[in-house]
Amino acid sequence: MQRLSANLLKLRTFCKPSCSRPSFSPSYFQSIRTQISRDRPLSFSSSAHQTANRRTYATYRRFGNQHHSSFSSHEGFVSNLGALVGMLMYNRRVQVAALVLGGGTFIFYLSNVEPAPVSGRRRFIVTTPKLEQMLGDSQYHSLLAEYRGRVYPDNHPDVIRVKRVMKRLIAVSGMEDVDWQVHVIVDPSVGPNAMVLPGGKVFVFASMLNLVSNDDQLATVLSHETAHQLARHTGEKLSKQPFYSVIALTAWLITGSSTIAQLLIQFALNLPASRQMESEADYIGLLMMSQACYDPRQAIPFWQKMEKLGLARPMEFMSDHPSDQTRIAQITQWMPKALEIRENSKCRNTQSYMNELRDSLSFFQGIRDSDSIF
Ligand SMILES: [Zn+2]
Repeated sequence: MQRLSANLLKLRTFCKPSCSRPSFSPSYFQSIRTQISRDRPLSFSSSAHQTANRRTYATYRRFGNQHHSSFSSHEGFVSNLGALVGMLMYNRRVQVAALVLGGGTFIFYLSNVEPAPVSGRRRFIVTTPKLEQMLGDSQYHSLLAEYRGRVYPDNHPDVIRVKRVMKRLIAVSGMEDVDWQVHVIVDPSVGPNAMVLPGGKVFVFASMLNLVSNDDQLATVLSHETAHQLARHTGEKLSKQPFYSVIALTAWLITGSSTIAQLLIQFALNLPASRQMESEADYIGLLMMSQACYDPRQAIPFWQKMEKLGLARPMEFMSDHPSDQTRIAQITQWMPKALEIRENSKCRNTQSYMNELRDSLSFFQGIRDSDSIF
């Protein structure tokens, strides 16, 4: 059996390609640090800077009165940093530039805040759907290449089953114009998992199809993934990265520790934001599957099964996903609204029975002509 790549081995349940995290590795910070020391040698012997030297001397002493002019040691670096900060604080032009830059950034941020669909959560997003689709297409071709020979043919019953459920979800998602593609991957080394890439590329591992007890539970999985696509969570994560980089760099400059900067970004920003988007996908997905006439109550036994699987996971505050217990509690809280939506969608009328009958017929028809499903 072909081994998975290191990246895909790290994938946890659901949406992994869309859950990429920034990498603020020590080498990343070291490269920035080296660049700064090369570009800004902090020597204050120049006569042109004598005034600045006098003004910043107090600050320079405050950081240990170290007279290093290079970053050869941590103390020297921090001392030079203190001098630099002091110099900048007293420089009018720098003050004006910082004010303009900060104000411009703030206005840019506010002008790109918009509500997420369904949940209404206000979030910053600056990427375009076109860019997100380009990234999704790139991942799509990579995944197809990686799993070459382990993708079920389009006329396989499992593929047809996934398409059947996706068809009903797509019909209520408002994304009928997306170029949807469905693939089922058979790889016993991968646990129950599924993902939807930007651009409507759906991947479901066969192990997930073995886990779900019925189409309602499969709809729980697929509606969650479709919700990520609807809410453009990939674009939202990408949009935040420049801010995270600036914050990480600032934290590193202040503390001199790349580890602290990494921990700050990871635990204070990245992971909470990821868990929030996962919960939002649960919420949107639950309402979506209800609108599509699937039983939202089946989401609870599904997540109970996931919990019993006991997949190795970090504690919730260290994870990019909510715990299964949190998900079950939240879904239970949202259930009345989901049931109300399902009731209002008139799922039990004659037309719905006809649709279900048509879907069942399409299953058999799809075995002969899978392309007719979509
Ligand atoms: Zn997810």
